Amino acid sequence: MAVSDHVDFNGFMEGVKRRNPYQPEFVQAVQEVAEDIFPFLDSNEEYHSQQILRRIAEPDRVVSFRVCWEDDNGNVRVQRGWRVQNNNAIGPYKGGLRFHPSVTESVLKFLAFEQTFKNALTGLPMGGGKGGSNFNPKGKSVREIQRFCQSFMTELYRHIGADVDVPAGDIGVGGREIGFMFGQYKRITGQFTGVLTGKGLEYGGSLIRPEATGYGAVYFLANMLATKDQDLVGKTAVISGSGNVATHAAEKIVQLGGKVLTLSDSGGFIHDPDGLTQEKIDWVKTHKTHRRGRIEEYVEAFPGASFTAGKTPWGVPCDVALPCATQNELLGEDAKALIANGVKAVSEGANMPTDLDGVHAFRGAKILFAPGKAANAGGVAVSGLEMSQNSERRSWKEEELQQMLKDIMAGIHKSCETYGRQGDGYIDYVKGANIGGFKKVADAMLAFGVV
Ligand code: NDP
Repeated sequence: MAVSDHVDFNGFMEGVKRRNPYQPEFVQAVQEVAEDIFPFLDSNEEYHSQQILRRIAEPDRVVSFRVCWEDDNGNVRVQRGWRVQNNNAIGPYKGGLRFHPSVTESVLKFLAFEQTFKNALTGLPMGGGKGGSNFNPKGKSVREIQRFCQSFMTELYRHIGADVDVPAGDIGVGGREIGFMFGQYKRITGQFTGVLTGKGLEYGGSLIRPEATGYGAVYFLANMLATKDQDLVGKTAVISGSGNVATHAAEKIVQLGGKVLTLSDSGGFIHDPDGLTQEKIDWVKTHKTHRRGRIEEYVEAFPGASFTAGKTPWGVPCDVALPCATQNELLGEDAKALIANGVKAVSEGANMPTDLDGVHAFRGAKILFAPGKAANAGGVAVSGLEMSQNSERRSWKEEELQQMLKDIMAGIHKSCETYGRQGDGYIDYVKGANIGGFKKVADAMLAFGVV
């Protein structure tokens, strides 16, 4: 009997929903993976009988804790912190920390689940985890952020370790926050180990880590275009977000000869018909990251551009699109607008930025569509290389790391091609990434037996 006869996809998803009430993002992420894994189980009975997908979709553990801190006015503030350790079949848990008011257990569980497959795709020995807090760093003083980070680490430190779980940055957590947390970890434990990545270069960080996610998403895009004998020269690009991933994606597109038309933030998007130059991108980096400003102020600095409040940029015609802000920011109708305007390729810099309707629309129209777990894996890949450098007590040169990043992104593209190429030649990157990531984790889990 074919597995699909007795494995009921709807029954599986009903169970996921029942066990995870009020966790829509987590359910969405599991469904996107399960849609590809169920047909694959037909010819891989052992994965089914050993309940591998069911086990990956149940985190190893979810740690939730109280984080108290005092604001500058002496008020006691109480936040919730989490660490989701999803799966460590192929290496220590690895994944970022997010500080944003929208953070919930559901969001972190979806991110840790996705991270498990992404990390497997890099080919490096890293399991999947994610953590963070509903703390909002916006409008907080540096001292408040420092106090929060120290309080957060005072609980987190007992759950992490260089061979146990190695967190990094994500939305709201950059080099400064990693520095505060690393300092507190070192103070509590008295140990200088590679327990966090995204560190400053002076204390064990890796070159190109800040650039790696955005650059990697563009390398992946270039790999996809190359399958159609195309490159980025002269191509127009629409990018959302204006943080770490978006600005570095924009930078690499410009370096490779493309024209970046948009960036955005939670207030709306800017459209610059002349295209962003390196000077304009540097302005955005300083303005958004260091000064915590708003993207709408771009139009005052560069008057040729316009700002549209409260909207995403997907209606602007373009050749390539890179959603680089947050989850569910590109909906079914946005995907249809992009397709109608002739988009050729979409590379997800953010995690799950396209909702299920949007994913179905891109796949249905056979657009080159790279899911985040493949396209944005460059960041965690260089984090993995930071772990190796810390273990070896050495630092690799920038050219070496750039080459390793390119090779890793090409390797992920190859995996997607292997598992995602369809009969008509179309490469279904979503399917390829899901099966490629699943297979590696699943084979390790089979080796361990039922644990
Ligand atoms: P940053 O905090 O540097 O930037 C986030 C950007 O997204 C900001 O422009 C922010 O706008 C915007 N944004 C956040 N939430 C919303 C929202 N609800 N609606 C509209 N815009 C929003 O984060 P990163 O660039 O590091 O991360 C962006 C995405 O990439 C996330 O999905 C993250 O998980 C993913 N990612 C990041 C990696 C990394 O190495 N940093 C690695 C892999 C994935 P505003 O300033 O107004 O808040």
